[in-house]
Amino acid sequence: MTSQIVKSVLEEAKKHNAKRVDGVHLVIGKLTFLGLEQVRFAYEVLVKDSIMEGSKLYIEEKDGVVRCSNCGYEGCLKYEDNPMYHVPTPTLNCPKCRGVVKIVGGKECTIKSVKLAI
Ligand SMILES: [Zn+2]
Repeated sequence: MTSQIVKSVLEEAKKHNAKRVDGVHLVIGKLTFLGLEQVRFAYEVLVKDSIMEGSKLYIEEKDGVVRCSNCGYEGCLKYEDNPMYHVPTPTLNCPKCRGVVKIVGGKECTIKSVKLAI
């Protein structure tokens, strides 16, 4: 995942003949279950000895978004305490009609912007 991001940024930098990459702004959906520390660590390792070395990584987390096909409700994914797992687990029940909701957002991992030094 992270290597794909770094690759895309390097390609973008090349397209613009950038000398250096100063910063990268990522949007990571919470439902990707990517550990932010893990992403940061992988990033540091991957950018070493490239024009991205020393660049700032800014990560914006995005909540999960669900939609109910029954009543049209759309909102953030809700979590409820599950006695079976002892941790809050996402509920796929619509808060309005108790129907089943579908996850429509929060699984993305995208590059929002890249700051280049030309
Ligand atoms: Zn509903």
